[in-house]
Amino acid sequence: MPEELNEKIKLAVEILAKAKNAVVFTGAGISAESGIPTFRGEDGLWKKYDPEEVASIHGFRRNPRAFWEFSFELMKKTSAEPNPAHYAIAELEKMGIVKAVITQNIDMLHQKAGSKKVYELHGSTEKLDCLDCGKEYDREDFIDFLQKMEPPQCKFCGSMLVKPRVVLFGEPLPTKVLYGAIEESRRADAFIVVGSSLVVYPAAELPYIAKSNGAKMIMVNYEPTVADHIFDVVIYGKAGQILPRIVEEVKRIKRFS
Ligand code: NAD
Ligand code: ZN
Repeated sequence: MPEELNEKIKLAVEILAKAKNAVVFTGAGISAESGIPTFRGEDGLWKKYDPEEVASIHGFRRNPRAFWEFSFELMKKTSAEPNPAHYAIAELEKMGIVKAVITQNIDMLHQKAGSKKVYELHGSTEKLDCLDCGKEYDREDFIDFLQKMEPPQCKFCGSMLVKPRVVLFGEPLPTKVLYGAIEESRRADAFIVVGSSLVVYPAAELPYIAKSNGAKMIMVNYEPTVADHIFDVVIYGKAGQILPRIVEEVKRIKRFS
């Protein structure tokens, strides 16, 4: 491993070993090594799809089929498993260092890896709602449709506007979740961003809130972001390789302190 990278990992480890209230903020990049494509970045889905068409609430109402085609590509990996980065974060929570995970992801891989306190800023695919008659569904109710990769149709009113409870462009974030995440960011003594381009608002506001309240800032991302300048340590690399190394070192230090 190059010397410069070792130095940066050491700095991150020093911050985390002292932290009592660390908060982790994740984006699509943390799940890339689980096989789920990101939106932006080299192999991002926006190279192939128009976000206004397939991932906005207006696009969904206009053409739910296009939304579902896009979702099926994303969900081809509904069986995706957490990778070493998700497990490393869960481990930091078990050690009492990380107090909360704030994620923009809708894939539930943090919970699958064992993280207990997870704020899902953009919702999840566990529930669906019919936008016409208001009927609520569990994912299980449509598992036959989803497995066949067919758009679900409301079993009550026949509408095609059955939408997973994820936040599309043009929709507000769930208020309680957002307020909880803001509070956690304010209280954080260390704030670690993993795999996010930090361009989707209001989620991308949270690192700035943590910074202005005195948190030490760590970034682990594959490529530079627009907010790198507010971080004390910026590590470019794959989350699944970097995070387990950091956690291993933190453990070692904790054992000797
Ligand atoms: P993004 O797609 O805008 O950015 C992902 C970032 O991760 C990029 O900067 C990329 O360089 C980096 N990255 C890629 N592979 C990485 C790796 N192995 N290790 C570390 N970093 C890596 O993602 P975003 O900031 O989360 O914002 C996009 C929106 O996409 C969010 O609103 C989120 O809801 C949604 N989304 C979620 C999923 C998911 O649930 N897994 C997948 C795609 C998009
Ligand atoms: Zn209905």
